[in-house]
Amino acid sequence: MAKVTFNENACKGCYLCMDVCPKKIIKKATDRLNVKGFNPVEVLDMDQCIGCAFCATMCPDVVITVEK
Ligand code: SF4
Ligand code: SF4
Repeated sequence: MAKVTFNENACKGCYLCMDVCPKKIIKKATDRLNVKGFNPVEVLDMDQCIGCAFCATMCPDVVITVEK
């Protein structure tokens, strides 16, 4: 199973990763803000992740790490 982790406080809230995910499992974390004042993103349904790393490639701030 793939695992996606986020360096949450580096996220600038552009949400490009949400658009590029083919499984649409990256969601805005509306329950919290990071140190920059943005809602970060999260994956709740990690079982659905196919480990394609499109999200990590797209992220302009290298927030996302994908492990297989
Ligand atoms: S692409 Fe990167 S900076 Fe943009 S919302 Fe996703 S994790 Fe945050
Ligand atoms: S690795 Fe692929 S499937 Fe998994 S969260 Fe990132 S874009 Fe979505």
